[in-house]
Amino acid sequence: MFYLCDNSFIRQVVPRGVDPDEHPSRRTFELLANEIRLRIITALGDASGEDGYASLAFSDLREATGVEDSGKFTYHLKQLIGEFVEETEPGYSLTLSGIRAYQAVVGHQAEGDVVIEPFDIPGECPTCGGQRRAWYENGRGHVGCGDCGETEFRYPVDARHVDPEDVESLLDAMHAQCLRDYGSMIWGICPYCGGTAATELRFEADHWEETGMIDDDALVHGACESCSWFFYANLAAVLRLEEPVQAFFAARGVDIWSEYLWTDHIDWIVDAVDVDPVRVRGHFAHDGDHLSVVVDGDVRLIEARTIESV
Ligand SMILES: [Zn+2]
Ligand SMILES: [Zn+2]
Repeated sequence: MFYLCDNSFIRQVVPRGVDPDEHPSRRTFELLANEIRLRIITALGDASGEDGYASLAFSDLREATGVEDSGKFTYHLKQLIGEFVEETEPGYSLTLSGIRAYQAVVGHQAEGDVVIEPFDIPGECPTCGGQRRAWYENGRGHVGCGDCGETEFRYPVDARHVDPEDVESLLDAMHAQCLRDYGSMIWGICPYCGGTAATELRFEADHWEETGMIDDDALVHGACESCSWFFYANLAAVLRLEEPVQAFFAARGVDIWSEYLWTDHIDWIVDAVDVDPVRVRGHFAHDGDHLSVVVDGDVRLIEARTIESV
């Protein structure tokens, strides 16, 4: 089995004709497009710790933002109150929107110029049999081939989880990031903006030609209605989140959570694809035993049957 996950290509679309003046995010950015207001949000966030989000008295907050002019400071603080900052008995603190804004600030700060050059990892290229490699560049982790140059896997991974001094950290980070994102999208929640997400099976290969990535029989497509975050993923990897799949491997001494998503130790074969209604039949195999599964078009596991070898 090879692995496949990607969200890196740009779609060509016809603009939907949204009037930017009416878009609610416009006001958000107008409010935040000011150095002092950003400093207020950052100061309240930075003052917080493991015990929760901080509340700062007026004078402490002004000192933390480094704004000498009290009138100017008061003006900008007032702009934020009600939306990003709330005034409470002990002082000022971030609202939920304020916390989200602070998270965006620290998340963005973490993007850096971290690069990990390609290094060998276990497994063979499904195209040419060459050595598999992993690398990190442009904020994305990759798995691909050192010989033919084919990419099997590509996914954004936060640089904070990648240590160039310890290249294996990239593998742990890619694995954890994808498991989180798959789980969240399958449950209908975008892991990035919190909007409504949907997953479905896709069979077309158009964008693989576009990006030069390897094709597969059936791919899981996840997409957020609000922020347009999306991915294409290998079906077997997404099925790992299902209890019957975990139980099948656990009963055979395999901890599926600790096996990297792109491992070829987990044997998965697609047996049949029906289009109307959409059904993918496939099986996981381990030491002669099979777990036969049927998945519907919304990536729901509707049948799982263990067939033991005799
Ligand atoms: Zn290759
Ligand atoms: Zn989203």
